[in-house]
Amino acid sequence: MNKNYDVIIIGGGVIGTSTGYYLSKSGMKVLLLEKDYLTAGSTGRCITGVRQQFSTPATIRTAMSAVKLFENMKDELGVDVEWTNSGYMFMAHDEAKVEAFKKNIEIQRKFGLDVSFITASEAKALVPHLDTDQLLGVAWCPSDGQASPFKVVLGYARGIRDNGGSIITRQEVTDIIVEDGHVKGVTTAAGVTYHSSRVINCAGPWAREVGLMAGIDLQVEPERHEALITDGVQYENMPMLVDYRADGGYFVQRVTGQFIGCFTPEVQVPGKDKSSTLEFMKEMSRRMCKIVPALENVAILRQWAGSYCMTPDGSPIVDETPVKGLYCSVGMSGHGFMLGPALGKFLAEYIVDGTWPFDMSEFAYGRKFGDKEAMA
Ligand SMILES: Cc1cc2nc3c(=O)[nH]c(=O)nc-3n(C[C@H](O)[C@H](O)[C@H](O)COP(=O)(O)OP(=O)(O)OC[C@H]3O[C@@H](n4cnc5c(N)ncnc54)[C@H](O)[C@@H]3O)c2cc1C
Repeated sequence: MNKNYDVIIIGGGVIGTSTGYYLSKSGMKVLLLEKDYLTAGSTGRCITGVRQQFSTPATIRTAMSAVKLFENMKDELGVDVEWTNSGYMFMAHDEAKVEAFKKNIEIQRKFGLDVSFITASEAKALVPHLDTDQLLGVAWCPSDGQASPFKVVLGYARGIRDNGGSIITRQEVTDIIVEDGHVKGVTTAAGVTYHSSRVINCAGPWAREVGLMAGIDLQVEPERHEALITDGVQYENMPMLVDYRADGGYFVQRVTGQFIGCFTPEVQVPGKDKSSTLEFMKEMSRRMCKIVPALENVAILRQWAGSYCMTPDGSPIVDETPVKGLYCSVGMSGHGFMLGPALGKFLAEYIVDGTWPFDMSEFAYGRKFGDKEAMA
């Protein structure tokens, strides 16, 4: 078997499969290696949200491009990814939040985003079950939405294969071969070596270990997050409700009727532990019922945990590394699913043509990590 490829991708989540799809579409011979199964990492554990409300230009523009890709995914990939413009509401319960959201809205609108600050009663008219006690208003973007991570990855993976690429699961990369500062290929736990002058690290929460295989110490750390999904009830087009208060959370009604959500613990939990806690289930239920009291009688179907791959500033690192031909698309924090389609397309274009669609220095390898993304 010929083991030479134009590009080797490490990781079969949304980032690896989207990047692989766009590279294979441009005619490159792609090999994607996944240590477990496709969606085994963060992607299959995310809560499906896709938003464009961010605070920095590159992230806003990337997210807006991603929404366009989600909207056309059925035609592009031939898979119904359950894309729905169900919107996102960021809830403001104090003046500081009102000001912060309004400031971000100003930036977002400069890029043409259909976002506005609406009153609590306008929000209530859109979401009749919403508890508006102490709510001062919400940042509302109706073109934000949701999609199925499993179907998105399925579509991209099928696309890679249709374009002549290969995907091998249960194949862990254990070494990246570097000679004279240039990447040459990878070796797997099965002892097989695959050759390529381009390798992309799309290993999500494992990105740091993978980078170190080539001597590249990426500034990323896994951070554990728990989530749950309820039984399905009648779909009421409820948007992603984001409550950033210390005892808040975020959840959305899936188009299939279930509510799916999580919250960020006050003290962040490092690591990749996938076990679930009773404490999270109780706390998340309490928080959801506080925001939408009508959920009181909806049963929880299941719960799980996964990891974000965090950078110090909450923005991804998408770039070539100091090892020539070794790229990384990592550090997606809590936004990799929503940004994934666009980042895959942009990195593929950069590898093929050498250009980014706009200034992407916010995502550069080796940047100085400054202020944290305000809508992390
Ligand atoms: C609870 C929770 C909720 C979230 N909600 C959202 C949300 O609503 N919206 C959103 O945009 N994002 C959300 N996220 C974040 C999102 O899931 C991630 O940012 C995104 O899935 C990252 O995709 P990825 O492809 O980089 O990583 P992953 O999906 O983790 O894929 C990396 C893959 O690499 C493989 N791998 C690792 N090491 C190796 C190796 N040595 N050899 C071969 N393969 C390897 C892993 O097995 C894994 O499958 C959430 C995350 C969690 C945990």
